[in-house]
Amino acid sequence: MSKSYENLLQMQKDYFYSGVTHDVNFRIKQLKKLKKALKANEKKLSEALRKDLNKSDFEAYLTEMGVLYSEISETIKHVKGWVKPRKVKTPMTHVGSDSYIYPQPYGVSLIISPWNYPVQLTIAPLIGAIAAGCCAVIKPSELTPHTSAVLAHLLQQTFEEQYVAVVEGDVETSTALLALNFDHIFFTGSVAVGKVVMEAAAKHLTPITLELGGKSPTIIHEDAKLDIAAKRIAWGKFTNAGQTCVAPDYLLVHKSVKETFLKKLIEQIKDQFGEDVSRNSDFPMVVNERHFDRLTGYMQDGTILYGGNAIRERRFIEPTILDHVSWDSKVMEEEIFGPILPVFEYETEQEVIEMVRKRPNPLALYLFTENKKTEQNIVTHLSFGGGCINDVIYHVGTSQLPFGGVGSSGMGAYHGKYSFDAFSHDKGILHQSTKMDIPLRYHKAKGGLKLIKR
Ligand code: NAD
Repeated sequence: MSKSYENLLQMQKDYFYSGVTHDVNFRIKQLKKLKKALKANEKKLSEALRKDLNKSDFEAYLTEMGVLYSEISETIKHVKGWVKPRKVKTPMTHVGSDSYIYPQPYGVSLIISPWNYPVQLTIAPLIGAIAAGCCAVIKPSELTPHTSAVLAHLLQQTFEEQYVAVVEGDVETSTALLALNFDHIFFTGSVAVGKVVMEAAAKHLTPITLELGGKSPTIIHEDAKLDIAAKRIAWGKFTNAGQTCVAPDYLLVHKSVKETFLKKLIEQIKDQFGEDVSRNSDFPMVVNERHFDRLTGYMQDGTILYGGNAIRERRFIEPTILDHVSWDSKVMEEEIFGPILPVFEYETEQEVIEMVRKRPNPLALYLFTENKKTEQNIVTHLSFGGGCINDVIYHVGTSQLPFGGVGSSGMGAYHGKYSFDAFSHDKGILHQSTKMDIPLRYHKAKGGLKLIKR
């Protein structure tokens, strides 16, 4: 089995070395082909997402397809500029020479993706790989088999295997691929598997991008506009039934507004998802029984303030708010990744800073406040991947911002130009003059600037 993966890798390396992918017009053509194939298969992908996660067409478009169409268009528009060597300043010590940065495609990249946004999180890295001039082997998630099968078929129909290949499979497949000497690995998934990937990459010193998870705090300060905060948090937390890497994981609410805010949040849940969410046929399911059992286990870790209904046969869990949760409970030890939202209260900003610092670096952090000083204090004193002030998740939707974690929530970033950068090595080149020479740099220098006689 792994022998055939080795052959696949070699075939892609040969194709990469042929130089075909270096041509920017080739890259643009492939991006256009990709967009066309996604559009042609939009219905099939939507149906597969419904089967795997009960995603509605609206949610599938908003969070998967729509994001990709605009990412491809942006990339096509700008890639000719991105590939150009950039001239940068040269110091006086290097007088006579010029300095350039040449973006160089890494080569053959291995892209491993998760199940929660199975289309977006497989194709978005591929857009970066194509733009940068790389070849790619893609390993989608085995937990969303219908979507992975449609993706595999679509990509096999669109690209030659020597350029973009899809290998379906589970941990065993992933492990076999990770043993090979890829030129770059782009991994999206859990912190635990991120460590496995990093260890595998270390064997070959392969450059890696790790897009991991973590617990993203959401802070509602005393001066926050509570109506809009409640609306946006209800949307961001319960979209995809909370199975979003940047979903608010837990709330930190200022003591003086906690009661009012929670009432508004409950109203918003009812408004957006229905009085009885179990009757909302568009509410996504939990991906499998293992995750269902893990999530329902968290219900014991606090007082259920709202929700709590769970139906195993349908893998349905109602949006649930947990109060009186202990920081040492299981729900606060692990990334929740489901529709359960623990709530804590605080009195001072310093308390917030200390609570967040005690835990691993979050992938995202959200703060609702009207106070600039509070905003600066939190944004500058805490380490996290990225986030929003007065919103949740929305920072992920702009191609102008790098998206990625820091420390235990990941390394590297992508989206827009950052995706191109993620798959490129910036090669620094000094173009030296042969018209003059500085003797001072040489051993036994006599000094002075000399013109070279021709
Ligand atoms: P996962 O880490 O279990 O799996 C991700 C991929 O790795 C899958 O393709 C899987 O087959 C493979 N894999 C699983 N175990 C492996 C192993 N031992 N060795 C090698 N490969 C292995 O993650 P998941 O459950 O699919 O996704 C959920 C996690 O992903 C959450 O932690 C979430 O926060 C994170 N995530 C992060 C982002 C991001 O952009 N930062 C986006 C989505 C999900």
